[in-house]
Amino acid sequence: MKSNKQNDNLSQSPNFNWSSFLWTLGILLILNSLVFPYLFKQKIIPTTYSSFINKVDSGLIKQVNIDGKKIYFTTPDGSVDKQGKPIDALYQTGKMNDANLVDRLLEAESPNENGKIEFTETIPRENSPILTFMLYWVLPGVIFYFIWKSAMKSMGGRIGGNYMSFGKNKEKIYAEDEIKTTFADVAGQEEAKESLSEIVDFLHNPKKYSEIGASLPKGVLLVGPPGTGKTLIARAVAGEAKVPFFALSGSEFVQMFVGMGAAKVRDLFSQANKKAPCIVFIDEIDAIGKKRDRMSSNDEREQTLNQLLTEMDGFDGKKGVVILAATNRPESLDKALLRPGRFDRRVQMELPDLEGRKAILEVHLKKVKHVEIDSDLIARATSGASGAEIANIVNEAALRAVRQNRTSVSTADLEESIETVIAGAQRKGKVISDEEKQVIAYHEIGHAMVAAMQTHSAPVHKITIIPRTSGALGYTMQVDSGERNLYSKEDLENRIATLTGGRAAEEVIFNRITTGASNDIEQATKIARAMITRYGMSDEFDMVALETVNNPYLGSDTSLTCSANTAAQVDEVVLSIVKKAHEKAKKIIKDNEAKMHELSKYLIEKETITGDEFMEILERK
Ligand code: ADP
Ligand code: MG
Ligand code: ZN
Repeated sequence: MKSNKQNDNLSQSPNFNWSSFLWTLGILLILNSLVFPYLFKQKIIPTTYSSFINKVDSGLIKQVNIDGKKIYFTTPDGSVDKQGKPIDALYQTGKMNDANLVDRLLEAESPNENGKIEFTETIPRENSPILTFMLYWVLPGVIFYFIWKSAMKSMGGRIGGNYMSFGKNKEKIYAEDEIKTTFADVAGQEEAKESLSEIVDFLHNPKKYSEIGASLPKGVLLVGPPGTGKTLIARAVAGEAKVPFFALSGSEFVQMFVGMGAAKVRDLFSQANKKAPCIVFIDEIDAIGKKRDRMSSNDEREQTLNQLLTEMDGFDGKKGVVILAATNRPESLDKALLRPGRFDRRVQMELPDLEGRKAILEVHLKKVKHVEIDSDLIARATSGASGAEIANIVNEAALRAVRQNRTSVSTADLEESIETVIAGAQRKGKVISDEEKQVIAYHEIGHAMVAAMQTHSAPVHKITIIPRTSGALGYTMQVDSGERNLYSKEDLENRIATLTGGRAAEEVIFNRITTGASNDIEQATKIARAMITRYGMSDEFDMVALETVNNPYLGSDTSLTCSANTAAQVDEVVLSIVKKAHEKAKKIIKDNEAKMHELSKYLIEKETITGDEFMEILERK
C-alpha cells in the first residue's frame, strides 16, 4: 500500500526530466565542437613542422603567427572565394624548440609584395576572446536552454506519468480572496439563505463543529431554473464567510485536451486543501456530472467525474473545505454524485414569487437612480420572471432613461422595459399596412374581450400593437392581481377560451383567418393536454398520469407514458376541449360586436390601451 503510493509520487515528480535534459546537453556539446567552428572560422589544415620549414625555404609563406605551442601560417594555394578573390590556406603545426626559426623567417623569400614573410607572436583574430566565448558557448547555451524549457512546458512537465497532457494544463486556478457579495444582494430565496447560513457559520468556526465531532455536508447542490441566483448565492456564501472562493464551471473541466479535466480537478482540490477553510464552487456541474450510461460514453467526462468523486471522498470534511455546485438539470446528474458524503444536501432555488420579485426589484433599483417606483405593479407585471430577468429589466429601464436624456428611472421606464425584455424591443422601422394593423388590433382586443367577459374584471394591464423585434405584432401585458398556485378546471378552460379569443375575433369580424394565432394555438393545446395527462381533469382518463415531465427547470418538455392507443384517445379529448373553448370565445365576440369595434378603433388610433381604459369603454353604456 505504502510503496504503491511512493511509486506514484515518483512517477510524477519532475526528476524524470533528467534524461531529456542530458539529451539536450549532448546535442549542445556536439554542435559546439563540430558544427559551430565551421560556421564561424576558416578551415585550419594541420601539417608537420618539416613541411612548414620546407614551405619557408621554398618561399611559399605569406604570414606566420606563433601562438603559445602552435604555429599558424598561410600560403596562397590557388583557391578562390565566391567572388573569385584568391584566399590563403591556413595551416597549423606544433612549435618546436627551433632557435633558428626567426633567422630563417627573416631570410626566407615570400609571395608578399615586399618579398618578406610577415610574422608575429599573436594570432590575429577578428573576434575578441570574450566575444568569441559569448558567441560560441554562451549564446547557443542560452538558446538551447530556452528551447528545452519551452519543450518541457509544452509537455506539461509530465512525461513518464500515467498520462500526457498538453496545452493550458498548468494554468492555475486562483482563489478570489475578497468577495464583496453578501446575502443582502440575494433577494427572496429565504429558504436557501437559511440553509446556507449554517455553512457560513461552519466556515467561520470549523473548530466549533469538529470539537463536537460533527462534520458538515461536504457538498451542497444548488438546484433551480436559470437566472434564479444560484451563482450569485454561492458567491454570497463566500462573501459572508470571508473565505477564499474557487470558482470553476463544469464546461471548463471538459475542455479540448485529453486528461485536462481530471488534472484540473486534482489541481483544484490540492489548492483548496492548502487554503482551507474555503469554498470550491462548480457551476453548471451537469456538464461533468451527467449520468454515466452505455449510450453516450465519453471517456474524458467520465475520468473527470471519477476524479471529482475520488477527491470528494479523499478530503477531510472537518478541515473546512465546502463544495458548492449549481445545476438546472438535477435529474440528469449521476447518482454517485448525490449519495451521502458527496452532494448530499440540496438547496432549492425557485423562481421568485410576488414578494420575492418585489425584493429583487428593490435590490437592483438600489443600483440605479430612480424616482418613486410602483414596485408592487412591476412585481405583478413580471409574473414568472427570474431574478436575472428582473435585473435585466431594471438595467433596460436605466438605458431607456439615458436615451431620453433623463437622470432617473421611472415606473414607465420599467413598464416599457418589461415589454422589451419579454417581447423584444419595439421595431419602429417595420411597416405594417393599415389593413394588417386592423387585424392585429381586433385579434388582441378579442383576447381581452373574452378574458373580461369570463371574469368580469380588467383582463390585462396594457395592450400595444407596436411590432416587436421578437416578431410579435401585438403585445398584451398581463398583470396578475396576486400570486396563484392553484388553478381550477374552470380557470384553465377560461384560459384556453381567452387564447382562442384572438382567432375568434378574426373569424367573426373579418370572416377570415390568419397566421397570427400560431402561438395562441400552441399554448392552448399545451394547457388542454396537461389538463388531461397531468392534472387528471378529464372524465375519460380520470386520475391517471399519462405524461412525465423531463426537464422541470428547462422548458418542461414532457413525454407520454401511455400506449399509442391511449395517446390517440388523448388527442381526441384535447381536440374537444379546445373546440369547446373556441366556440365559447366566438359566442362572446359575437355578443359584443359593437364593443369590439369601439375598442379596436381606440387601439388602432392610440396603438396602446390600458386595462383601465379598456374597462371604461367596455362598461360605457
Ligand atoms: P443562475 O446561476 O441561477 O443561473 P445567476 O446567479 O447567474 O443565476 O443570476 C444572474 C443575475 O441575476 C445575478 O447576477 C443577479 O444580478 C440577478 N439575480 C438572480 N437572482 C437574484 C436574486 N435572488 N436576488 C438578486 N439578484 C438576482
Ligand atoms: Mg449560474
Ligand atoms: Zn393572439
